Amino acid sequence: MSRTFTAYLISKTDDGQVTELKQLTDADLMDGDVTVKVEYSALNYKDGLAMTGKAPVVRRFPLIPGIDFSGTVVDSDHGSFMPGDKVVLNGFGVGEVHSGGFAGLARVNGDWLVPLPKGLTPRQAMAIGTAGYTAMLCVMALENHGLKPDSGEILVTGASGGVGSVAVALLGRLGYRVIGSTGRSEERDYLVGLGASDIIDRKNFSGKARPLGKELWAGAIDVAGGNTLANLLSQICYGGAVAACGLADSMGLPTSVAPFILRGVTLYGIDSVMAPLEKRRKAWHRLERDLDLDLLETMSHEIGFDELPTAAEAILAGRIRGRTIVKIPD
Ligand code: NDP
Repeated sequence: MSRTFTAYLISKTDDGQVTELKQLTDADLMDGDVTVKVEYSALNYKDGLAMTGKAPVVRRFPLIPGIDFSGTVVDSDHGSFMPGDKVVLNGFGVGEVHSGGFAGLARVNGDWLVPLPKGLTPRQAMAIGTAGYTAMLCVMALENHGLKPDSGEILVTGASGGVGSVAVALLGRLGYRVIGSTGRSEERDYLVGLGASDIIDRKNFSGKARPLGKELWAGAIDVAGGNTLANLLSQICYGGAVAACGLADSMGLPTSVAPFILRGVTLYGIDSVMAPLEKRRKAWHRLERDLDLDLLETMSHEIGFDELPTAAEAILAGRIRGRTIVKIPD
């Protein structure tokens, strides 16, 4: 039986890529052994790049964007999932080379799915979304490094954004003293409400970095790259660590080896897309346990499907605070 559903579809034309709202059927979906009725998706920075075509995120056409979703299994030929199961998906190239979550239906490889943690609703799972799950991976990297709340202050860059907001909330709840770096001083109350002890203007990290600066931070979570990451590396205390996951400032990294060879600083690269299943399950379990769901609600807002193109422009312009949940129409 053929099902119809609404979806955003990105096609390639002679003039570049075009993103349109379409009525599709199952036949338009890509191969996979599990079909999911998508209930919620989320708007991540990468979705903004995909929807607008401002970076070559989409590498197969035509393609439904949306790098994450939550919903209910409707068909399954996979041993681990049955119709009715609630699931979450992040990454694995979904929304980049495999059709994704900005659609009523998604068909994917069941190996990419994580069962929805019992303590979370599908909406909460997408309030967390890829950004929140990546924030958790960053926190886990700092913990595995040996950082503890009494190690010293932790800096979180892009603090008002998606990864940043969840990172601040998680670290605050875990007892760390968190300093949020932000370009939006008007978000001080918001960030303090999430758990930041203080905020710092991101301009402090935007100039050319010196090889070494004053030792200020036991660790950091960085979403920005570029001069931001170079500057904060120069300010990490002896033996500290940075978990780097983003490029909101730049893809470049104009640093020197000084922080690594003179202060034993460690730089952890965080990838959420191809992270192994065991790590994903652990991260989702930790989110269920350690993230304050009331704070999650305060950092999230929901948009309708038709608002996605405007919101995609806004996230790239750094105008979106926290997390954006996308309600998928029935
Ligand atoms: P958001 O747009 O929600 O947040 C990014 C924040 O970065 C902005 O809100 C802003 O915060 C800050 N920012 C923007 N421009 C600059 C700049 N020039 N210099 C310094 N800070 C800046 O995006 P997400 O939180 O969803 O994602 C953040 C980054 O992490 C992106 O680059 C994204 O691609 C990456 N990412 C990587 C993943 C991975 O697997 N490695 C997974 C998920 C995200 P403020 O206004 O507070 O300064």
